[in-house]
Amino acid sequence: MRLSPGPSSAALQRLVDGFDRFRGQHFEADAELYDALLEGQHPEVMVIACSDSRTDPAIICGAQPGDLFVVRNVAALVPPCERDRRPHGTAAAIEFGVVALGVRHVVVLGHSFCAGVRCLLEHDHGAERFAFVSDWVNVAREVREEMDGLVTEAERLLVARRAEQAAILSSLRHLTTYPFIAERIREGRLSLHGWYFHFGWGTLQAAEGPRGPFRQLDSGETPRPAIGG
Ligand SMILES: [Zn+2]
Repeated sequence: MRLSPGPSSAALQRLVDGFDRFRGQHFEADAELYDALLEGQHPEVMVIACSDSRTDPAIICGAQPGDLFVVRNVAALVPPCERDRRPHGTAAAIEFGVVALGVRHVVVLGHSFCAGVRCLLEHDHGAERFAFVSDWVNVAREVREEMDGLVTEAERLLVARRAEQAAILSSLRHLTTYPFIAERIREGRLSLHGWYFHFGWGTLQAAEGPRGPFRQLDSGETPRPAIGG
């Protein structure tokens, strides 16, 4: 039986063409790197990013294969540690990156115009249409409560951008509830970073502490962690 190519075949063809280019320009041209990666992966940085197609951390940060251990989910959220023996995809990736690979830095990379954070803010309206998204983003419900507390017109105008940054800080705090993370921070073996990519302005900001604020990173600057040494 021959399957129909379907309506998106051109989009898929572009990916196969892209793989051909990758093979020629990277895989074959940089055989030393790919031979070394055959032995195993030793990334120093784990990135927790949003699934949004515009915010691929490897692309926007110019990373090489083997540089980043990445987990992506809706809104780049980290739920608090829960040992209820149910499957937790994000927690599993964090455990693997931190415990098995021994990454030295965990970066929560949020971004502007995040539909997941909008869904979090509009939780009561979106629950029927987006049941799974709604339940997922609710792990950061404290952000919605925080935004409900904004009173002035100026504050409310910027509520979406503030909520996106508050969601990053919420994820950083939740990361510290995992015992294997708290232990490594105490021992100086791990640090946590909150980064915010504003793709309207083309800027990258970093949280200066567990409660913010966010400050734009200068070119060439070594970012300081929000939590840990
Ligand atoms: Zn997003």
